[in-house]
Amino acid sequence: MDATRPPLTAGRPIVFSDLDRTLFFSLNALYLDGEDADAPALRVAEIHEGRPIAYITVAAHELLGDLAATHHFVPVTTRTSAQYRRMLIPGPLPRYAITGNGGTILRDGVVDGDWTARIDAILACSAAPLEEIARELRREEFAVWMLRLRDAEKRFLYAVVDRTAITAEVLDGLTDWCHERGWAVSLQGRKLYCVPHGITKHDALAEVALRLGGGPTLAAGDSLLDQGMLLAADRALRPAHGELESTGFTHGKLTVTTGRGVRAGEEIVRGMRSWADAASPSDC
Ligand SMILES: [Mg+2]
Repeated sequence: MDATRPPLTAGRPIVFSDLDRTLFFSLNALYLDGEDADAPALRVAEIHEGRPIAYITVAAHELLGDLAATHHFVPVTTRTSAQYRRMLIPGPLPRYAITGNGGTILRDGVVDGDWTARIDAILACSAAPLEEIARELRREEFAVWMLRLRDAEKRFLYAVVDRTAITAEVLDGLTDWCHERGWAVSLQGRKLYCVPHGITKHDALAEVALRLGGGPTLAAGDSLLDQGMLLAADRALRPAHGELESTGFTHGKLTVTTGRGVRAGEEIVRGMRSWADAASPSDC
């Protein structure tokens, strides 16, 4: 925690943002279309096993650091806490961060045990066990597209898939099967997520907003797992790419970027900053 950071008071605007493909982008998600000479300067946002694997524009990095230092900024991700900690997020350590798709709340970087216990109690009576879903995903006929299956802290499952080999029919069938058992499916790039309905980003958003004094909220995100959060917030932003673009998701409080990829990420940071500035109570 940066001890020089001025205290942020209750009732101030709170910015919640998904990370992958909303603010930070892998090489395959940059969408650097147009002339090479016009491409924005990039900064590395994640190192894994000694190699850079995610990027943000230099301008967005600077703006995001400034936003996080002057407003409540809450990172929200489906990543596990360990995967989240690899990300090079500019600015001071966030007071709150949401990981595991809402299953975990980090307070000053430390797992909040009360929230974890609450989620565990909800899952125990609202969703089929993880092992049952994992068994279905390991079906022999899925092996042509299911390259690797992993569990995230025993809470939910994610798989690296071959998108060219997975059909819409198979995906719809799997989605329906999981839904009947209290689980949701989301396909993001080469990753397929299966997450219990009881673990949501929007429930964690509501909890963190309450803890931060209940100020006005803005949420940004690109995937189906972000949809509830975008509906729950007072204002919402999403990029013109990803699952929500594919489904044409929109509503009255939502703004969609004009650009795609890493340029959309920079648009989102600019949108978050101008909204937070405008929503801040006057000091006069
Ligand atoms: Mg995302």
